[in-house]
Amino acid sequence: MVFGKNVIIYDLDETLYGKNKEFSDLLDKTMAETLVYDLGLKMSVQEAKELVTKSYKMYRDGGEIFYRDYGIDNKDLFKAYHLRKPVEKIIPYDNLIDKIEKIPADQYIFTASDRYASEKILKHLGLFEFFKDKYYSVEDFGVFKKNKSAKVYEDFCKKINANPHDAIFVDDSYSNLKFAKEAGMTTVKIYYNNNSSGDKEYIDYAYKGIESFFDDILSLKIA
Ligand SMILES: [Mg+2]
Repeated sequence: MVFGKNVIIYDLDETLYGKNKEFSDLLDKTMAETLVYDLGLKMSVQEAKELVTKSYKMYRDGGEIFYRDYGIDNKDLFKAYHLRKPVEKIIPYDNLIDKIEKIPADQYIFTASDRYASEKILKHLGLFEFFKDKYYSVEDFGVFKKNKSAKVYEDFCKKINANPHDAIFVDDSYSNLKFAKEAGMTTVKIYYNNNSSGDKEYIDYAYKGIESFFDDILSLKIA
C-alpha cells in the first residue's frame, strides 16, 4: 500500500516525464502546424502558435480558442495533433522503471494523449512493457479531456475494478486533480517550480517532480 491505498493512477504528460520549456514551446508549434497544414486553418503558423499559447493560458487547452472561434472540430485536432506529437524530443528520467517496479501498489496510467501517442511515449520512456495493459486514454472513455467532470474518474475506476477511495491520482494539473478528488480519490500534485497547492483543499500531497514522490514512498515505505 501507499498512503493506505492499493491503487495508483498516473497522468502521463509532464508527470512521468519532466516539464521543459523548449518542449512545451515545440508542442505549441506542433499544434499550430497541425491546425494550418492538416486542418486548413487560414493563418500563418506563427499567428496560430501565438493563439495556441494564449489558449493554454486562458483555458488550459491549446485548442479551445479554435473550437470556439474558428470552427475547428475537437476530435479532428485531437487525432491530427497526436500524429504529429514530437515524442522523440521528450527527455526521459533515468531508470524510472526500477522505482516503479518497487512501488507496493497496482499502477495504471490515465492520459489525455490518444492511444497512438501514448504508446509511443511509453516506449520512449521505457515504460511500455510495464504499463502495456494498464494505460488508458481519454478516448477510451469517449472524451477528449479529463478536466471536465468527476464522471470520467469514476468510469476509470469502474474499468479497472477499483474503488476511488482506494486509489491515488497523480497529476501535474490542478484542473484534473480537482475532479479526481471529487470522485473520491487521494490526490498527489506534481509541481516543478513552486508548490502552490497550499490553499487548495483538494490536494492531499505535493511533490517536486515524480522522482521525489517515488523516493519518498520507497524510503518511508508508507503503508
Ligand atoms: Mg500532465
